[in-house]
Amino acid sequence: DPGMAMAAEIVVTRLTANGHEAFWVGGCIRDELLNRPVHDMDITTSALPEEVLSIFPRCIPTGLQHGTITVLQDKYGFEVTTYRTESTYADHRRPEQVVFVKDVKEDLRRRDFTINAMACGVEGELIDPFYGAKDLDRRLVRCVGDAEERFEEDALRMLRCVRFASTLDFSVAKNTWRGLLRQRDKLAHIAVERVRAELERIVEGPHPWRGLGMLSRSGLLQRGKAPFPWIGSDLAAAAAYVAGIGELESARLRWALLLHALGRSAAEADELLRAWTFPGATRVGVAGVLRVREAWTAALEEVPAGDPAGTDKLRRRWIAAVLTHGQDAACGWLTLLKVLPADSPDELKDFPAVAQTWMSCMTVTGLADLAVGGTELAEALDRRPGPWLGLVLNELLLKVATGDIPNDKQQLLAEVKRMVGHEQL
Ligand code: ATP
Ligand code: MG
Repeated sequence: DPGMAMAAEIVVTRLTANGHEAFWVGGCIRDELLNRPVHDMDITTSALPEEVLSIFPRCIPTGLQHGTITVLQDKYGFEVTTYRTESTYADHRRPEQVVFVKDVKEDLRRRDFTINAMACGVEGELIDPFYGAKDLDRRLVRCVGDAEERFEEDALRMLRCVRFASTLDFSVAKNTWRGLLRQRDKLAHIAVERVRAELERIVEGPHPWRGLGMLSRSGLLQRGKAPFPWIGSDLAAAAAYVAGIGELESARLRWALLLHALGRSAAEADELLRAWTFPGATRVGVAGVLRVREAWTAALEEVPAGDPAGTDKLRRRWIAAVLTHGQDAACGWLTLLKVLPADSPDELKDFPAVAQTWMSCMTVTGLADLAVGGTELAEALDRRPGPWLGLVLNELLLKVATGDIPNDKQQLLAEVKRMVGHEQL
């Protein structure tokens, strides 16, 4: 975004014009050197927070005690942070004490990885005391300083390490990986939400398979506050199922695939995602897809292979599942089937395509589409509305959706009277 770069340049230039040092720092330098899109630009400066506040009229004291001020320039906001060091970390996460310093190299030293510990000035001068550019070339995630110490200070860095390796498709430097293995138990100190946020970036990022492999090998996830069942042996069994995860566009389907591969039921998946503090919409979406899977597996088990009427029975069961769980969930399951290894019986190999045709032939998808309403129906039968009404309406909906009866008021009422005659009510 050239607008953002120009606005950031104004901020950096104004700081230097006032006699301070100021540099772009961290992720934006890394992404720029990798030729990847830069989504935000952080600035590091020798100016003290009160000096920053006095130079820029429009700013928000985002994290004043840590020296961070958000400076508003044009339509952008930039985090401007005073050079600082950190010491004595509480609970393996938060630095207890922040000390402002004069040397940018001191500030870079507190940063997590060499590829995140570079700064760059307006003249394009790169400050790279830990050889981050070289690690970018070698495609390595490496801790600044002693890995074990750095992970011990802040255990979240271990997941950030896996996340950067995964999304950038990098390897982890040997000593860094060793430090991670030694400190992995400390992940228990990190809030579930933080862990989940990193996990989302891994699973929803460009190389999820890579991150999942590293999570499995590291054994990190079993050590969190809300353990995620992603253990080595599970991974080996699940590998074939998850290999296609990167082909799925939708985050919801990636999670559904993952939980499917781990052999979780819809109810278990729902519980797990709740424990992991996922937003309700994700949870409901994932569980819906898995419910369709359950309905479909049950249908396959009930319809004997070689049954001449088998296809039509399956068609009815599929339509019933679509009506119960919704089209989104049904389409989601069809999409998953395309990336899952084909282990279905031969006659169903083209099931996703066939099911799509079945679905596109449905003239109704919900009670609102039905040509008769509940009140009308109760009046026609001269009965009081009650729970029976919902059962009857859904029965009618299924019959219309499968094409057994047309969606016509008179015919629907006749059908209901026939059902009453047969004492189905
Ligand atoms: P992205 O925004 O794409 O996740 P980023 O590198 O900008 O990548 P942020 O979390 O925005 O990551 O943090 C900005 C910078 O702050 C990082 O580049 C790194 O230098 C430093 N940093 C962030 N979190 C930590 C941490 N837990 N320990 C040490 N340094 C950190
Ligand atoms: Mg960032």
